[in-house]
Amino acid sequence: MSDVAFFSDLALCPELQSTLQMLGYKKPTPIQAKAIPLVLRGEDLLAEAQTGTGKTASFALPIIEMLSKTAPSPEYRHVRALVLAPTRELAIQVGDSTLEYGQALGMRVISIYGGVRVDNQIRKLKRGADILVATPGRLLDLIQQKVISLAHLEFLVLDEADRMLDLGFIEPIQKIMEYAAEPRQTLLFSATADESIEVLADFYLNNPKKVKVNPRNSTASQIKQFAYAVDNSDKADVLSYLIKEGKWGQALVFVRTKKRVDEVTDYLKKEGIDAAAIHGDKTQRERIRMLGEFISGELQILVATDVAARGLDIESLPHVVNYDLPNVPEAYVHRIGRTGRAGEKGEAISLVSPAEREFLKRIEGLIKQKIKLRPVPYIENGAFIESSESLRPPKKKRSKPQRNKDKYPPQEKYESTLSVKAVRPSLFKK
Ligand code: AMP
Repeated sequence: MSDVAFFSDLALCPELQSTLQMLGYKKPTPIQAKAIPLVLRGEDLLAEAQTGTGKTASFALPIIEMLSKTAPSPEYRHVRALVLAPTRELAIQVGDSTLEYGQALGMRVISIYGGVRVDNQIRKLKRGADILVATPGRLLDLIQQKVISLAHLEFLVLDEADRMLDLGFIEPIQKIMEYAAEPRQTLLFSATADESIEVLADFYLNNPKKVKVNPRNSTASQIKQFAYAVDNSDKADVLSYLIKEGKWGQALVFVRTKKRVDEVTDYLKKEGIDAAAIHGDKTQRERIRMLGEFISGELQILVATDVAARGLDIESLPHVVNYDLPNVPEAYVHRIGRTGRAGEKGEAISLVSPAEREFLKRIEGLIKQKIKLRPVPYIENGAFIESSESLRPPKKKRSKPQRNKDKYPPQEKYESTLSVKAVRPSLFKK
C-alpha cells in the first residue's frame, strides 16, 4: 500500500476528491493510505491507530464512496453505516467530520449519544439517515424502542474499541451486534491491540486485514515542553504556584487516578483557583457541564483523568499539565497534542517525581527529544534552590491570589515570573 502517495491514487469519486481539496488535505495520512484501499475492496479491517492520525477519514471516506454507488431507498433513508464511539465528544467529532466528508454527495449523517434529551435525536432519526454515529448505550435504548433499525446495515465501525471496552460497553455492543444485519463489512479501530481487542475482532470481524500505524511520535514544534523535578507531596502546591505566578489562562491538568483528580481540584479551589474535576465517577450531566464550561472558556482549569478528557477538542489551549506522568509514553504525545494547535503557541508542563523519572526517559525515547528536568521554581533571594527534594525552604504564608473569572490575564512566560520571591508550603504531607 506504500504506492498510495496522493488522494488521486485512491479510487475515490470526484466529489470526494474536491471535498478533500477544499478541506486542505494535501495527501493521505499513513492510516488513510493503508486502510482506504482495503475498505474499498470490501475487506474487514482491524486497525491500530490513535486519534490524530486521520483515522476518521480512513473509514468514513471509503464508506461514503461505496454508499454513494448505490442509491438509498427513495421513500426513507435506512441506516446503512453505523459508527460506534465510546464518548459523546467523540461521537460528535466523528459525526461532524463524516458530515463534512459526505456533504457533496448528499449523505445524511446523524450523531446520537447519551446524557442529553432524546426527543431531538428521535425527531432527526425519523427523517432517516445514511450514516449513524452513536454511543452504545443510547443506541441500544433507541433500538429497543424501535426508533432505529439496523436491518439494512452494510457497514459497521467500532471506533476506539479499546476505550469502549475500558468504559464497560461490552454488553451493549454485544446486544447491538445481535440487531445488526449480516452480511456486512466491519471495521475495528483501536489505539492498542491487546488480547481483549483480539477477542472482539475474532467475534465480529470476518478474516480481517490488519493495519497499524505508529502513533504521532513527534510532538509539534510550537509546543514548549518543561519538566520540573517535584516531590509527589509538593505537586499540587507547585501547580498552584505555576498557575498563579505564571498568570495562566486555561489549562488542562492530567492526573492519574480519580481520587487524586478530586484532591488536586480541591486544593486548587482552596487556593482560589477556578478549577473543576472530571472523571468516570462524575455523572454524564456533570461531565457535559464541565466540558462545556471549559470549552466556552468560562472555566479556567480542568483537572481530568485521561479517559475523561478523551475526545475533548479545544481550538486553543495554552497549557497542558502532566501532573502525573503517564506510564504509557504514547499517552504523553496524545495529552500534549491538546495544546499548541492551529499554529498557536502552547506549553506542556510535567511534574516529575523521583519515581516517575523512568517514565520521563521513556517519553524522551519516543519523541526523540530531551525534556530538560528543571528544579522546581521555588525561589529564595532570587536564586533557584537546587533541588526541591534535598532542600526545603522555610514555610511562609503567601497572600491570597486574585480571582478573575471573567477574563483571564494574558499568558506570560513564567521564566519572567521567577524573580518573584515565593516560598511554597507543601501539600498532602503525611
Ligand atoms: P482524526 O485522527 O480522524 O481525529 O483526525 C485528526 C485531524 O486530522 C482532524 O482534524 C482531521 O481533519 C485532520 N486530517 C485527517 N486527514 C487529513 C489529511 N489527509 N490531511 C490533513 N489533515 C487531515
